[in-house]
Amino acid sequence: MSGAPKARAEIFSVASYVGGESKLAGVNRVIKLSSNEGAFGPPPAAVAAMRAAAAEMHRYPDGHMVRLRQAIGAAFGLDPERIVCGNGSDDVLALLIQSYGGPGTELIMSAHGFSIYEIAGKIAGCTVRKAPERDLTADVDAILALVNPATKMVFLANPNNPTGTLLPRAELARLRAGLPGQVLLVIDAAYAEYVTRADYDAGVALVDAGENTVMTRTFSKIYGLGGARLGWAYAPAPVVDVLNRVRGPFNVSALVAEAAIAALADGSWVPTCRAHNTAARARLAAALRAAGFLVHPSEANFLLVDFATPERAVAADAFLRQRGIIVRNVKSYGLPSCLRMTIGTDEECAALAGALGEFAFV
Ligand SMILES: *Cc1c(COP(=O)(O)O)cnc(C)c1O
Repeated sequence: MSGAPKARAEIFSVASYVGGESKLAGVNRVIKLSSNEGAFGPPPAAVAAMRAAAAEMHRYPDGHMVRLRQAIGAAFGLDPERIVCGNGSDDVLALLIQSYGGPGTELIMSAHGFSIYEIAGKIAGCTVRKAPERDLTADVDAILALVNPATKMVFLANPNNPTGTLLPRAELARLRAGLPGQVLLVIDAAYAEYVTRADYDAGVALVDAGENTVMTRTFSKIYGLGGARLGWAYAPAPVVDVLNRVRGPFNVSALVAEAAIAALADGSWVPTCRAHNTAARARLAAALRAAGFLVHPSEANFLLVDFATPERAVAADAFLRQRGIIVRNVKSYGLPSCLRMTIGTDEECAALAGALGEFAFV
């Protein structure tokens, strides 16, 4: 009759997730560029819709999210029946791992892939294998080389966080073609709306081509609803059926559903934000390169800047904090000499470029 309740041993193989910081002691106006949140906040129509929906918050949401899935389907040209929504795409990713992974199975991701795959994979009891990258970009051959009979899932963030790189359509197709049919390929396209490259596909074609590829998306980045929590998967019918069995019956709030429907109805939001991101990202990268820093090319709403040594990255981080600017240290991703910086407004980018311009002389 002694002892305390004990959770499964796998739980202790991971540390709890550390998100981008948002506060600095003694600084009133913080410039938060640490979590890749959209530069312009939430769409005003989404705020208004959520406010209006609040009067009905005593009612349970529609557990099937019919109107929301119809709105997503219409906006993205997808069949609403093949869409499953979740409490952020992290929810959907974890449900996929719970359903298809587990003890005795292996999950493959790339060396600097998004950390949630490793965290959720280990908690589910999977063995997580990391494939080496080339130029901080996922390497299809290295991923395929790790496949063995225990492999159940491959996770690819495309573009990837925190590297900002992507695999073009042809490489994705080559990855799918090289994987055994029973291996589930999950393409996490959280930053898809920011991509302007013509050789990019978020994953729809591969989902449609078979029964073993899933695409996940989020409202947390360009749509500016990270705090409200909404993500979704576009998946083959059998995977949709699995997700609908394992997900919580009310895993999406009625409030965020209304916010998202309103956000989707604002047809100029995404093109405007994307255009800003493309221009501001190029300007910031050019300014930082001119100041002598190594800036990795990025297809997303952030830049990965290499300061050559971990000490110099730590010093840059501290220097920025003293000026009220918070970026993300990516030591936990195995990139200790780098900092990841979200593309903010023009004013925020200018402040960041100015501060790092000064730091270059420290
Ligand atoms: C930010 C991000 C997500 C989004 O997570 P949510 O749970 O939808 O907020 C998913 N994948 C990657 C790679 C990300 O960077």
